Amino acid sequence: MKTLDQPRIVIVGGGLAGLAAAVRLTQHGVPCRVVEVRPSLGGRASSFLDGATGNTLDNCQHVAMGCCTYFLQFIETVGAAGCFRRETELNFIGPTGETSRFTASPLPAPFHLLPALGRLKWLTRREQLELGRGLSALLRTPTERLRGVQLSGWLTAHRQSARVQSGFWHLVLVSALSETLDRIDAAYARKVLLDGFARHRSGWEVLIPTTSLSELSDRYAASWLRQHGSIFKCGVGVEAVHLAGGIARYLTTRTGESISADEFIITVPPYRLRSLLESAGCDLTGWPRFDQLETAPIASVHLWFDQPLTNLPHAVLVDRLGQWMFNRSWGAPASADGWYCQVVISASRDVEALGSEATVTRVANELLAIWGAGRSIQLIRGRVVVERRAVLSVTPGVDALRPDQQTPIANLHLAGDWTRTGWPGTMESAVRSGYLAAHRVLARLCRTPAPLPADLPIPRLSRWLFPE
Ligand SMILES: Cc1cc2nc3c(=O)[nH]c(=O)nc-3n(C[C@H](O)[C@H](O)[C@H](O)COP(=O)(O)OP(=O)(O)OC[C@H]3O[C@@H](n4cnc5c(N)ncnc54)[C@H](O)[C@@H]3O)c2cc1C
Repeated sequence: MKTLDQPRIVIVGGGLAGLAAAVRLTQHGVPCRVVEVRPSLGGRASSFLDGATGNTLDNCQHVAMGCCTYFLQFIETVGAAGCFRRETELNFIGPTGETSRFTASPLPAPFHLLPALGRLKWLTRREQLELGRGLSALLRTPTERLRGVQLSGWLTAHRQSARVQSGFWHLVLVSALSETLDRIDAAYARKVLLDGFARHRSGWEVLIPTTSLSELSDRYAASWLRQHGSIFKCGVGVEAVHLAGGIARYLTTRTGESISADEFIITVPPYRLRSLLESAGCDLTGWPRFDQLETAPIASVHLWFDQPLTNLPHAVLVDRLGQWMFNRSWGAPASADGWYCQVVISASRDVEALGSEATVTRVANELLAIWGAGRSIQLIRGRVVVERRAVLSVTPGVDALRPDQQTPIANLHLAGDWTRTGWPGTMESAVRSGYLAAHRVLARLCRTPAPLPADLPIPRLSRWLFPE
């Protein structure tokens, strides 16, 4: 068995959680070794080479929101903040093709978006009032009373009609949480609406990467880490974490290497973690049952048309198969490959039954019905990428299954968007978990860490109206 040079800190997994943990530790003068099974970094937020065009495409368009303060600090630290553009106006396309512009009014939070809700043209005035009552009831209920409650049942009990459920609740929450309303814990619905829409004027703004996801990991995060002394070992799968005397001692890899360290941060998905720990005899009695966590699929439909369909940079699609259209040609010079857009289908369980070809046809036809009427626009090519285990399902009661970053083993820490952060499985949750795990390590090394990023400040009125 070959023994590698020993850094003090080993991070297993080079997704956002692993990279964030490494950045946080490296910032405090503690460089790390990151071991990643895939040849490249980024995990679920990554890109692939499209054989037909030779272009690097994202597995799926990722977006962050103004309330994602840890993620924003992370990209700032690695010099990638300039690779995002901030949308302060969203374009909703109603069922009959009408556009409603969603933007903040000059009113103070939490009322800044009320006029925008009143402009959702596909809801009647009565439905908008009904929605207002539902939103107010949810936001005014403390989170603890919603935890474990199924959202669809809660909405029905609060007289939210099927029309309002599909025209608002489904539209917003399926995009944000990638789950259907019957599989969402009402506490997470409140979190999205409170942090994103009610608490702060800029919480809802959408940040869209202007570069590929793999560039964010490789060109920015990994370069920054290398410059500051951290190292990467890609294409190496960790097989087991070995303990002795109640603490973690070393890892073994699938290629027979062993890697010792003082502190270990494991960021693999929950369905990989059990085997990693148990194969070397770790007793998981007393740990949360993380292997019962469920995941939700997301499909992205990549489409190339022979001419531009729309000048909009993005659109939120109401009552369509996909929820968001991202114009990936926006601001770019015309390309010989055609005009390129991505349509994201969250909670995409239906797509598998439908099949790729039918999905491409249906989504392309939906876009053509909105923007192609009276024009002879041709679809050149379409491609569907389905990530079956895209994100954590925030099913009712999910919090009991999400483990803390600190484990019963003193020098073994967990990170990953699925660990306990209070956030749904997002880039923000991944970065938070990485920072929290890094702080556990720093505490054990007796280093005083810099303060964690602050959440957006909550105006007094919001705090009073919507208690924790
Ligand atoms: C299709 C799709 C769309 C999404 N859209 C959004 C969005 O718009 N906004 C948003 O905020 N979030 C979005 N997400 C979620 C976001 O991508 C994740 O929350 C985030 O990337 C998770 O990072 P992570 O590091 O926790 O996990 P991962 O990215 O899963 O990282 C874990 C890493 O561990 C590695 N690994 C696994 N096993 C081993 C092993 N044995 N040895 C070594 N390495 C191992 C994996 O290869 C991986 O790189 C989306 C996800 C998908 C899939």
